[in-house]
Amino acid sequence: APVAHDAACIFCKIIKGEIPSFKLIETKYTFAFLDIQPTSRGHTLVIPKYHGAKLHDIPDEYLMDILPVTKKLTKALGLDQLDSSKGYNVLQNNGKLAHQEVDHVHFHLIPKTSKDDGLI
Ligand code: 5GP
Ligand code: ZN
Repeated sequence: APVAHDAACIFCKIIKGEIPSFKLIETKYTFAFLDIQPTSRGHTLVIPKYHGAKLHDIPDEYLMDILPVTKKLTKALGLDQLDSSKGYNVLQNNGKLAHQEVDHVHFHLIPKTSKDDGLI
């Protein structure tokens, strides 16, 4: 698989462990960790272990691992049993106009709950 790194990228540093993070899952292609400024408890970022700023920059083998990892996270976060009090969003922003702040592709997994459900 092709590999790309940017020594100045904050998310590449997180993948390499040079910046600490709360890691939830790591696979050959994917790294998932808690967002430092969560929109809700359990707000997770799922990123390819390949430096690319935009979705269209990322090789398919990395993209194809993102959704299975995201699915595992929904189970780990207790989001696979939804009722009227619980849901989640999966979001991925490309470009400043689309509210992208960090130029390393990341998928947000954002739990939505209407009450305290014990999520981290
Ligand atoms: P964007 O607006 O680019 O889609 O989202 C970037 C996200 O990265 C934001 O939700 C922000 O809180 C998160 N973030 C930025 N820097 C760090 C960091 O150093 N550690 C972690 N865990 N999250 C970060
Ligand atoms: Zn990067």
